[in-house]
Amino acid sequence: MAPLEAPPPLIPASLARRLPLDLGPVGTLAGSRFLAEAGPRICSSLDRDETLHAVVQLAVQHLADWCLVDLLERDGELRRVVVAHADPAHRELAERIRRYRIDPASPHLELTAIRTGEAVLVPSVTPEYLAATAQSPEHFGLLADTGVHSMIAVPLLGRSGPIGAMLLGSCRPRRRYDEEHVRLAAELARRAALAVDNARRYGEVCDAVRARDEALAVVAHDLRSPLATIVMAADVLLQEGTAPALRTDIVRGIRRAARHANRLVAEYLDGARLAEGHVVLDLQATSVDALLAESVALVQRQADGAGLAVTLDLEAGLPPVRVDLDRIVEVFTNLLGNALKFTPAGGRVVVRARAGGDAVVCTVEDTGIGIPADALPHVFERFWQSSGQRGRGAGLGLAICKGIVDAHGGRIWIESEPGAGTRVHFTLPVAIAPRPNG
Ligand code: ADP
Repeated sequence: MAPLEAPPPLIPASLARRLPLDLGPVGTLAGSRFLAEAGPRICSSLDRDETLHAVVQLAVQHLADWCLVDLLERDGELRRVVVAHADPAHRELAERIRRYRIDPASPHLELTAIRTGEAVLVPSVTPEYLAATAQSPEHFGLLADTGVHSMIAVPLLGRSGPIGAMLLGSCRPRRRYDEEHVRLAAELARRAALAVDNARRYGEVCDAVRARDEALAVVAHDLRSPLATIVMAADVLLQEGTAPALRTDIVRGIRRAARHANRLVAEYLDGARLAEGHVVLDLQATSVDALLAESVALVQRQADGAGLAVTLDLEAGLPPVRVDLDRIVEVFTNLLGNALKFTPAGGRVVVRARAGGDAVVCTVEDTGIGIPADALPHVFERFWQSSGQRGRGAGLGLAICKGIVDAHGGRIWIESEPGAGTRVHFTLPVAIAPRPNG
């Protein structure tokens, strides 16, 4: 269906009347009763689809033979979510209508209501109306099959703008829609929009709580291993007769496990801040040499322990980059830490940097175990780890790197081949744009 950036033409005023949504109070007792009944039924669920089913059912019981609701999705497209007919025997036709794809270039009743923010009333579905709005012979046939002779479209207005539209159709000669029907339809749509908006917000809150619970579960799981080490070590220390040399080893083990736990918590908090976009950068012009000297020094002990050397391959005359030094050192140490962790002794770990227009392209390359192709699309996701790696990290390292590089306006990507090694590339903005002939 039509993305709203390329709006279809509106239905001409000669074929459909546009009316404001606020036409004053409902004028009949039956109408007031209907709305009094509608309120609680529409609000009885916090599930979007259940809410919309209640709305269309109410409409076809009191106001229409056909009722459908289209919702604007996040990508700006309009999707038909529910269709109902007063007579259940029309279920098959209702399903055809629900699945019909609307031509974005044709005038469209619901989009006219959404774009104008007004109700659109077609008192009579005349042959001229059909000729002007039917998008294809198939659409013409579908409209004719419904038997509607009068229609109303009303926008569903959420708290922060339109969220969709509701369409009512009457097939009964004695029920030709007029202003009073529009009043009722607008009131029904107002209640429906509020309920859908609430359901949407409730869903978002549930998603956020679920993501947080998952994150906490991962962190809690990962913390159990260093904490268990600490408890066991303390138990041994409490036993009498532990040799002094062993006691020192055990205390060192406790310190190592506590540091590991500390790092997991720090990474988790950092990952959460980056995911929410709360990164404040202290940008300075910095030489790539300085960044690398600091980063390599920080992983030197790990490299020595792994029996690996980190070598540098820097293009001569690289321009300074405009970065937050501590943050980019964090990117390098995370990437180098992974390279050292996943490369067996005797392998190679190389850091490369090349000029690339208004950026410097950095690469951390190893000849380690590599990453399977089906895992590659996931490695920058928070908490993702390949099977077998659980407990060795928090699965946040690459997500943090991406968050930091993104915050600098750069790009990060990965290439890997199982058994051959991994290359992670990222760009850093140069501090001074190079001169065209410089
Ligand atoms: P962690 O902090 O747990 O290492 P990362 O986000 O840094 O998490 O990495 C996620 C996963 O990606 C790792 O568990 C590992 O499976 C894979 N990975 C990352 N870097 C490499 C690498 N250089 N070689 C092989 N696998 C890697």
